[in-house]
Parts: sequence; C-alpha cells; structure tokens
Amino acid sequence: MQSQKTSTTTPDQIRRSPKVLLHDHLDGGLRPGTIVDLARETGYAGLPESDPDKLGTWFREAADSGSLERYLETFAHTCAVMQTRQALVRVAAECAEDLAADGVVYAEIRYAPEQHLEAGLTLEEVVEAVNEGFREGERRAREDGNRIRVGALLTAMRHAARSLEIAELANRYRDMGVVGFDIAGAEAGFPPTRHLDAFEYLKRENNHFTIHAGEAFGLPSIWQALQWCGADRLGHGVRIIDDIQVAEDGTVKLGPLASYVRDKRIPLEMCPTSNLQTAAAVSYAEHPIGLLRRLHFRVTVNTDNRLMSGTSMSREFEHLVEAFDYTLDDLQWFTVNAMKSAFIPFDERLAMINDVIKPGYAELKAEWLFQQTIATPALASGSAASQD
Ligand SMILES: [Zn+2]
Repeated sequence: MQSQKTSTTTPDQIRRSPKVLLHDHLDGGLRPGTIVDLARETGYAGLPESDPDKLGTWFREAADSGSLERYLETFAHTCAVMQTRQALVRVAAECAEDLAADGVVYAEIRYAPEQHLEAGLTLEEVVEAVNEGFREGERRAREDGNRIRVGALLTAMRHAARSLEIAELANRYRDMGVVGFDIAGAEAGFPPTRHLDAFEYLKRENNHFTIHAGEAFGLPSIWQALQWCGADRLGHGVRIIDDIQVAEDGTVKLGPLASYVRDKRIPLEMCPTSNLQTAAAVSYAEHPIGLLRRLHFRVTVNTDNRLMSGTSMSREFEHLVEAFDYTLDDLQWFTVNAMKSAFIPFDERLAMINDVIKPGYAELKAEWLFQQTIATPALASGSAASQD
C-alpha cells in the first residue's frame, strides 16, 4: 500500500545521485554575482541590473519570452564580461564547482572561442584560460569533497564563417582539455550543411562533434545534421517527435528518420526547461522526452543554460520525476545513457559507469531498501509507525 508513495524519488536523492551533463553552455551558466563583479572590473556598463538577485530574475524573464532570438540576446551580456583571461578562468572554475556541488560527476561544457576575442585574446588564449579554469574548479570541488571531471566542447556559430578554423582549434587541443566540437546559434536560415567543410575535416581527423538541431526547426535540420554532416550526437533533437505517430489505441509508428535515430543509438541531448522557454515544448508532462524514454531512444537530460533557465541538473530531474514519476532506476538509465554518449575514450566512460555511477545509485537504492525494512515491522505489528 505504501510502496507507491515511498518509491517517489526525493529531491535529496536526486541531488546526491551521480549525474552526467553533456549539453551546457559556459556563457549560459554564470553566477549573477560574478556577472556584476566582472562588469565592474572590466568597465562594462550595459547590464540591465546591478543587484545580483534582480539580475538573475532579469535573465530568466528575458529567456521566458518565448522567442529563441530574444533568448539568444541575453548572451550579449554574459559574453561582454567574458573577454579577459581572468574572467574566463573565474567563470570556468565556478562552473565546475557549481556542477560538482550539484552532484554532477562528468560534464562536457561548450563555448564559442570566437565570442571572447573583443579585448584582444587569441583563440588559443581563450581555450587555455577556460581549460585552466576547469582544472581549478575540479581542484576546488575535490577540496569540498566533490569529484567532477570536465571536458570542453568548442562551438562555432551557425551564422558566422569560422567553423573550419574552430574545428581545427578543437583538433589541436584534443587530449588537452577539449573533447569535441559543436555548432550553435539560431537554426532558421542557417542549416548545418553551411559548415560541411568543418564536419568533413573532423571526420577525417577521427574527431567527435554534436550539432544543435531539431530545436526550433524541424526534421530537415535533424536529417541534415545526421545524414549530411555525420553528427555523433544531436543537440536537443526534440523535433524527432514529428516523425513518430501515436495512434488512439497507443500503437506507435516510427518514420524512417526516427527509426534511424533509435536504431543507431544516436544520443539526444534533451534540455526540458530550455525547450519550454523557447516554446519547443508546451509543458514538462507533454515534453517529448516522456515518449522517447518509453520508446528507448538514447535520451540524455541536460541543462542548456543554467542562468537563463534558473536550473541545474537536479532541478531538471526533479521536473521529470514530477511529470513522469521517474524512479532512481530511470535517473540511472538517463545518466548511463549520457556517460555512454560522452566524447572521452570508451575505457574511461566504462570506468565512470562501473566505478562511479552504478555504485552511486546502488548506494541510494540500498538506503531506501533499509529504510523499508525498518519501517515494515512497525507497521505490521500495529504499533505507531515511526516517522524516521
Ligand atoms: Zn544549447
């Protein structure tokens, strides 16, 4: 009788569970207080608010407006304060620290080096500053008793023409903190095939890349990303739902592209809260992630922009638990999916799954089991149930 209620995953369990994050933008995850500090230090006068709390609210409200273009405008402010080496080191270190405190054990954080050149840094200096920050953040997290490993993804902007240069940069810093490449920015009018030379170069170099596709734009964007560009993963990919038909009786029919994505185990980097803000989904309960998880697509859960969405990995999981009644087994499934889909070498992914993720979830499940055995005799004997 009690089992249904007690199987509900609690926020505390979610926070303590080991989590893996594949889709998170460095310029979308700053602490509001850091933005205020950096604006003052670098003389940037364009912030809409100078109080950290009000600034945080401003970012969330601007992102809530429902338009992807307006959502992207908020990045003008964060990028403006990320133009010096010191600023990049600080932002990257705090990113790793914040994620580790939230129970994230492995993260791939993306940023566009070309957006941090305004004060005279070179592309190489940007990459090295961010790497230094991540290492610093990993070290500070360890001091706090948290363990995290962070890899960088270098992003090229869809509307710009530097993708080959950024792909070469990603390749040069491979095994030196950079684990892959990405294309981001407004999808409409900027199909991924504009950047074919960058993707073909990376394939020839046996390197990895993901492409933002199927967020604001539909199936053609996903199809191009996979079949023309050869993406290893899809950033968002929510519109794959347009190629799936669910009949009144619940029968499901996959179209050819959806079948391909599922058959080939193409990882979907889903970002539920971000999708609600850009109107790519209507509500958590109606987010395609529910159906895609049921159909065993290679679904992963991500934050996209923690600042603009006022979110964290734990909060994303909390929303999904509330909407779909997910158990710790479901959360472990999402997490193992993400770790399998990471761009680090296979043996390291396997070690993270077997030595960190599975033991972490096993511990949480064991705790729950023992709580049940403590509670059961009290209930059976008819004495007052302990509330422990
Ligand atoms: Zn994104």
